[in-house]
Amino acid sequence: MKIDLHSHTILSGHAYSTLKENIEAAKIKGIEAFAVTDHGPAMPSSQQDAYHIVNMRLAVPEFIDGVRIIRGFESNIIDYDGKIDLPSEYTPYVEYIIGSLHEICIVPRSKKENTEGVINAMASGFVDVIGHPDGFGFPLDYPAITEAAKEYEVALELNNNTLKGRVRGDCRENYLEMLYYAKKNGVYISVGSDAHFYTGIGDMDLSSAMLKEVGYPEELIISKNLEQFNQFMKIRRQERTIY
Ligand SMILES: [Zn+2]
Ligand SMILES: [Zn+2]
Repeated sequence: MKIDLHSHTILSGHAYSTLKENIEAAKIKGIEAFAVTDHGPAMPSSQQDAYHIVNMRLAVPEFIDGVRIIRGFESNIIDYDGKIDLPSEYTPYVEYIIGSLHEICIVPRSKKENTEGVINAMASGFVDVIGHPDGFGFPLDYPAITEAAKEYEVALELNNNTLKGRVRGDCRENYLEMLYYAKKNGVYISVGSDAHFYTGIGDMDLSSAMLKEVGYPEELIISKNLEQFNQFMKIRRQERTIY
């Protein structure tokens, strides 16, 4: 696993390292690339607004010391129509967009409604990955989620931080169910550390172990290497405009 597709900097407000510190950590760990995915503006502690998000690609080089920096953000799904907290005129300027449900930004509903919300976010075309669809706080219908992920060519995240069980409860069983149906439906999987401090960058061991355990097809794991990530983003470019 050479790419960490989920990480935070101090811009998220409840994370504690700078981008430079994260890049140094990635280099030390031998990570080929990582995605900067600070929380979107709807997250109460987030320090970034739309202008910050779209300017990152102009300000931050694509490669720094040989590490590919994927300049993205973790959007908040803010309603059950699947709307995210970045107006659609800005999304083409963002390389990579995670869409996540966070209880602090949207009140959980029934399993049916949560599932519809996530599917609507995928159908909107603006999210490349659904972040931590672990069912914690937001029960999800995995057969339906994975079918939609295949239809709209959106990846589902196997979040390493969630798997530790400290942040969002024990989600192991839910993730095993998600992977079971994802494998059946041929869905792309992304892996991310969801690091909120530089020491966590590149931490993907629990996710790797689980993917091995279930025999997940390697060609569908977009965190495996840059080639597979780029291939996935080529597909995404057919689903949404990216400049
Ligand atoms: Zn966070
Ligand atoms: Zn999140």
